[in-house]
Amino acid sequence: MNRYIIALGFLILGNFTGFSQKISVSIFNDTKLSTILITPTKGKYKLILGDTQELLRENQILYLSRLGDSVVVRDANRNLGTWKRVSIVGETNEDIIRVKPIMPASPARLYDDNLSFYVEFDRIMAINLIDEEKYIAAVVEAEGGPNREDEFYKAQALIVRTYTFTHLQKHSAEGFNLCDGTHCQAYKGRSEKDDDIYTATSDTKDLIIVDSLNRPITAAFHANCGGQTANSGDVWVESLPYLTSVPDKYCTNSRSAFWERRIPFKEWKEFLAKEGVDTLKIVKNSEMNFEPRQRPKTYTVYGVNIPTTKIRKQFKLRSAWFSISVFKTEVRFSGKGYGHGVGLCQDGAINMAIRGWTYDKIIEYYYKGVKIVNANTVNATDVKLDTLNIQEVLGPEHLQLPPDSVRTN
Ligand SMILES: [Zn+2]
Ligand SMILES: [Zn+2]
Repeated sequence: MNRYIIALGFLILGNFTGFSQKISVSIFNDTKLSTILITPTKGKYKLILGDTQELLRENQILYLSRLGDSVVVRDANRNLGTWKRVSIVGETNEDIIRVKPIMPASPARLYDDNLSFYVEFDRIMAINLIDEEKYIAAVVEAEGGPNREDEFYKAQALIVRTYTFTHLQKHSAEGFNLCDGTHCQAYKGRSEKDDDIYTATSDTKDLIIVDSLNRPITAAFHANCGGQTANSGDVWVESLPYLTSVPDKYCTNSRSAFWERRIPFKEWKEFLAKEGVDTLKIVKNSEMNFEPRQRPKTYTVYGVNIPTTKIRKQFKLRSAWFSISVFKTEVRFSGKGYGHGVGLCQDGAINMAIRGWTYDKIIEYYYKGVKIVNANTVNATDVKLDTLNIQEVLGPEHLQLPPDSVRTN
């Protein structure tokens, strides 16, 4: 473990009260980097190698490659040596740098602020030390998509900031705050497509969502609830008072509000048998039909209760809200919504914003009894509590907006 990183980590992790600060994010975290090409594209960058530093020229290309536990640095003309740590530090507030993995090959991304590289876990680690608000804007874009309403972006920014605030220690053992994968929050480089996203983030600077006891909430969200959000306790082991079911008339005209999936009857029968259903009892297939009026928690068949979330997982359904029609050779699921259904419904929130709802009203609609407060007023000791464990239960899905729910109009 690199000592500098640890020191940096403590500096950041120890400072909960000053929230507007830099955080360290491991980028290309799911890629085993061994050769990278980096190029400053805007601002002014300093390259730090050991005790030496030099200014980089705009568009100067640096090649970094792994050699054992060190990083070899070259540019077009020179070999700049082999180092344990390579740091590239932005000198203005608007420094942008391009990072292009060569081995393995991966599309280039642009990053704000500072980068450092070192070898650990048999790969080059690439750490982006970035202004927290710039990071939040980039995650809002990755998770909310481009060209949305400002008030939707503000609501999404509060969700992202609340998560960030409560998870700064998630990777502390590895020496950085967060990774850029769905394990933490999707971060695909700087927010590029939409200036409004950065403005919406700055307009809500420092604001997070807390429960009635002033503890940051688990701000779960999903693409589309299908017309009624889910109780957290019906989907996960733990039930949270602010994550309770609410009706939602704002998302039912969206593309992802309805879906259908068919599976062979044979698979269905095998599944039921595995769940303890005596399939010899089946006289007519239509006896297994199911048509819930509301978002269902369980499906009951021949006296056996099966959680709908289990059926969703087994057959990779878009949601756990569906009716079932059982025919001779196939089973047809007709469903509503996309995602787990807990917390904020993105399609609903987008439509509310279009209709003039402000972000605070949107937040208060989907999360019951919560307050929006400045993160600086929240006690650092209240941060951990139940939030960390529950996020594990949520899994990566709550952070992803499925591509087909992205609105094009
Ligand atoms: Zn992570
Ligand atoms: Zn909805």
